[in-house]
Amino acid sequence: QQLKIVTSTNSYPVFVGGGAIHLLYEFIQKEADNYTSVMVITDETVAKLHLDSFQKSAGLSRIIVKIVPSGEQAKTFPVYYDCLSAALENKLDRKSLIISFGGGAVGDLAGFVAATYMRGIRFIQVPTTILAHDSAVGGKVAVNHPLGKNMIGAFHQPEAVIYDLDYLKTLPEREVRSGFAEVIKHSLISDETFYDRLREQIYSLDAITETEMLDFLTTGISIKGSFVAKDEKEKGIRAFLNFGHTLGHAIEAEAGYGKVTHGEAVACGMLFALGLSKELLGLEFHLEGFQLWLKKLGYKTSIPEGLDRERLIEKMKQDKKSVGGTIRYVLLEKIGKPVLMEIDEKTLTAYLKKFEEEVG
Ligand code: NAD
Ligand code: ZN
Repeated sequence: QQLKIVTSTNSYPVFVGGGAIHLLYEFIQKEADNYTSVMVITDETVAKLHLDSFQKSAGLSRIIVKIVPSGEQAKTFPVYYDCLSAALENKLDRKSLIISFGGGAVGDLAGFVAATYMRGIRFIQVPTTILAHDSAVGGKVAVNHPLGKNMIGAFHQPEAVIYDLDYLKTLPEREVRSGFAEVIKHSLISDETFYDRLREQIYSLDAITETEMLDFLTTGISIKGSFVAKDEKEKGIRAFLNFGHTLGHAIEAEAGYGKVTHGEAVACGMLFALGLSKELLGLEFHLEGFQLWLKKLGYKTSIPEGLDRERLIEKMKQDKKSVGGTIRYVLLEKIGKPVLMEIDEKTLTAYLKKFEEEVG
């Protein structure tokens, strides 16, 4: 499957499917004279599992490989600095290419290295997680600051995204669950029939067939692409992609990154945002059915115990997307129709209480 992402600054292909990795070679060959050198950034886990086969099937022989720690650890200043040092030591120049090979963390890091090295060089995303169907498209790249996630970043679109679904076969169930939450998000914010399809077809995460996965991920990518196309730099509707993330991010931050996965936190955040949409906008939606489905797929649907509720609200107020004293929230008028609403702290606190008594 080939999709195309169009933004105001450029457009690029997204190749999705089992075995798609061989297209990397073709893609690079087309530009061979243009690339002086190629550096792959990958993490320890992905390197152990897939680096050999990646190099063989991608037909890449003379490449520089930089292996970084797995997970959120990759998106730190020391690791970012290390990657820049590796780029300088290996004499990467303005015509070099960086390939990110891994999940969203590696993609965000490698993309930020590419965005900032010599004021920006080209890069290609080779995602290896379900979650990365979201993160690899759209050009947001970043590392974390101890005071906040993704606080240091840039917009830097890749030259191409080559998404070989065979890599997903080694993904632990926890990561499948994390990534699938973003698939659900994409359906809820834009396409009711897609949402119905997910509800009808998926009753267990380990029973998703390859055909279904291809369908879900290409649909998810094209939805993400359509939001990005209309609003590359997030001045307006791109913010809808943040559905479920206001509470989700707060939970992640308060619980400690890695304790709760991103998708797990977002699933809980979506349930909350749907409840809030019913409360404030009269959304017609069977919340209980949705919650039962999430539980069946293994998501925890209540806010983890032990997290201070006031601090959660504080965190939501600090969200990059909020302005002034109110919290800018993505709600749904109906499935597929998101809206942005300014919500004051009192309303949010009151609903949080109600949510915990009646839902989560
Ligand atoms: P990740 O890269 O940390 O991957 C999750 C874990 O799975 C890691 O331990 C990794 O080593 C392992 N892994 C990766 N591929 C594997 C494979 N094929 N088999 C076995 N294990 C594998 O994280 P993620 O969940 O892919 O992405 C989360 C990150 O993405 C966060 O940092 C988040 O901020 C970022 N993100 C960015 C955007 C964006 O638009 N840029 C959007 C959403 C999320
Ligand atoms: Zn997300």
